[in-house]
Amino acid sequence: MSFEENIRKVVPYTPGEQPDRKVIKLNTNECPYPPSKKVRDALNDMVFEDPRLYPEVTCKTLNEALSAYYGLPVENIFSGVGSDDVLSMCFLTFFEGKKPVIFPDITYSFYDVWAEVYRIPYETIPLDDGFRIRPEDYMRENGGIVIANPNAPTGMLMELSPIEEIVKNNPDSVVIVDEAYIDFGGQTALPLIEKYDNIVVTRTMSKSRALAGMRIGYAFGCRKLIKYLNDVKYSVNSYTMNTPAILAGAAAIKDVPYFEEITSKIVKTRERTKKSLEDIGFFCYGSSTNFVFARPPKNVDTVKVFEELKERDIFVRHFDKERIRDYLRITIGTDEEMDTLINALKEIVK
Ligand code: PMP
Repeated sequence: MSFEENIRKVVPYTPGEQPDRKVIKLNTNECPYPPSKKVRDALNDMVFEDPRLYPEVTCKTLNEALSAYYGLPVENIFSGVGSDDVLSMCFLTFFEGKKPVIFPDITYSFYDVWAEVYRIPYETIPLDDGFRIRPEDYMRENGGIVIANPNAPTGMLMELSPIEEIVKNNPDSVVIVDEAYIDFGGQTALPLIEKYDNIVVTRTMSKSRALAGMRIGYAFGCRKLIKYLNDVKYSVNSYTMNTPAILAGAAAIKDVPYFEEITSKIVKTRERTKKSLEDIGFFCYGSSTNFVFARPPKNVDTVKVFEELKERDIFVRHFDKERIRDYLRITIGTDEEMDTLINALKEIVK
């Protein structure tokens, strides 16, 4: 007998590279601008907090700030260590059935990893040829549904009405709408949580709030679903969010003008970048996120472009996966960074 057979073996999610030198980093959809000054103030004030004490078990300070900003009771809000933690808790809590959970074949590549690690049966549903979700594909028996909107890594947005159709037609399943990128464009599904008791909307502070390093994510749902989520969370680890993260998140959410300033700057840079890429022969999908999904001109090899950019210390993301091998996912940086990228690409594709 070997201990090997008692071990849970999984193929882990592969995050984008975090190089240990300064590069133009357009590979993990971080924000190119610093977080709000209010976050810095909150962290400086941390010296008055007593690190001997456990953090707030309910993440009260953060949830109250979210409640005030989104106009929803705290009972509808769940916070966690990045939306990865929140989504992982959602998989563990809501997908306990025997029927397969369904999500698109091209989407956030952590979904199948959570399904595998928690032994949840799942099936992937192919996006159409234009990488769009066909809502009718989600009107079938299932044990749960996960949709990233806008989707990743395509950046493409789905309208709210087909999302509502999916939620309405699946009253026996929980539908998770992962809105990691919604602050960069599109209509949120948030109003649906007051209408339906089977939808959970997840968000992150890693992109539009410039706090990837603090690990802050949150979710909205009806009181019952949020209670189920908390019951599971408190059965795994009660104190997941540390005090600095709780305070930084609350401070970030309160600085509305700064949030609006940086998100609109990123959107402007995105549109300019898309046009510049198209001018040099790239094909780009319309993006509602802080990245673009772009295919180099026909006679140019995508991996070669990826490697040559890397040699110039410009990091973008390539997924060696069927259907999307020919594309690069490029995070929107500052205008200056994007100019450097475009100039490098001009030379590479020449
Ligand atoms: N959802 C999607 C679609 C993402 O792209 C990411 C970023 N990798 C996340 C969730 C997780 O973000 P975080 O854990 O930083 O909140």
